Amino acid sequence: MDDSLICGLIGTGIGRSLTPAMHEREGAAHGLRYVYRIVDLDAVAATVNDLARLVDTAADLGFRGLNITHPCKQIVIEHLDELSDDAASLGAVNTILFDGGRKIGHNTDWSGFGRSFQLGLAGVSIDHAVLLGAGGAGAAVAYALAKAGAGQVTVVDADEVRARSLLSSMQSVFVGTTFVSAVPSDLPRVLSDADGIVHATPVGMAAHPGIAFDPALLRADHWVAEVVYRPAETELLVAAAARGCRTLAGTGMAVHQAADAFQIFTGRPADADRMSAHMRELISLEEASALAGVSS
Ligand code: NAD
Repeated sequence: MDDSLICGLIGTGIGRSLTPAMHEREGAAHGLRYVYRIVDLDAVAATVNDLARLVDTAADLGFRGLNITHPCKQIVIEHLDELSDDAASLGAVNTILFDGGRKIGHNTDWSGFGRSFQLGLAGVSIDHAVLLGAGGAGAAVAYALAKAGAGQVTVVDADEVRARSLLSSMQSVFVGTTFVSAVPSDLPRVLSDADGIVHATPVGMAAHPGIAFDPALLRADHWVAEVVYRPAETELLVAAAARGCRTLAGTGMAVHQAADAFQIFTGRPADADRMSAHMRELISLEEASALAGVSS
């Protein structure tokens, strides 16, 4: 393969994404001339209706691939030539490889969470896992938990219809895992019988501070996995650690989904530890500059 390549990210509200810096630095560490561009639909006055044109233009311009994010992960599928089995089962694509004139869709959100979970919470029981949040991230987590052999996944969402819809799409793919849906007021009962919980709502992000459920429901023998990664240490992770729970930060999913996409684009395995250190450095810088902004 030529040692220069260009990739990009299409979505909305991605102006502050850390992904370009992570990909480019990892590319440089591999000796590649690797450029990673952001295509923010808002910034170029485009909508999802322009997605096919943008994807085709990137292919025509010689991009090696694209990452795809909100709100394009489902809609992009109709513009692709081929899907990996996992992307097809999930019904969502976050990575497109342009290969031999074909546009091939992959999903590294689920594999990124799966790898992070396997490394960061090695050995925990997943006989019964609770998933709070049935949106895009929640779907990837549900898929990863089932792939990892979860016995039961209870999907909890403030929007009951979303929880039920995720349950039925997952249940149609996985026969070995029982999916159950519930609403947040069921959490005391559901958690009393669970091994751990994955939090996959936006609550806890810098822009949505707080914790999506009462951490007093956690016992020391629960594990707690977070999907929110900005900040890296959310209020939930702090509260769970204080109660003695094993915890997993959302940065792991973000790093491993990027590492898996890097491998798809370049054909080279990424050094996930190096990417993780870089991501934490970027988040720390961002947090320090936000603090400086508040105090000045
Ligand atoms: P989304 O909007 O698609 O879904 C969020 C879901 O949470 C919705 O179904 C909503 O009804 C539910 N919800 C919101 N508040 C709730 C509450 N208090 N109780 C119960 N349910 C509630 O969002 P998304 O794309 O799935 O993203 C969720 C979070 O995951 C965001 O913070 C995002 O930044 C993060 N994320 C992280 C990674 C990663 O790599 N770590 C990847 C993708 C998304």
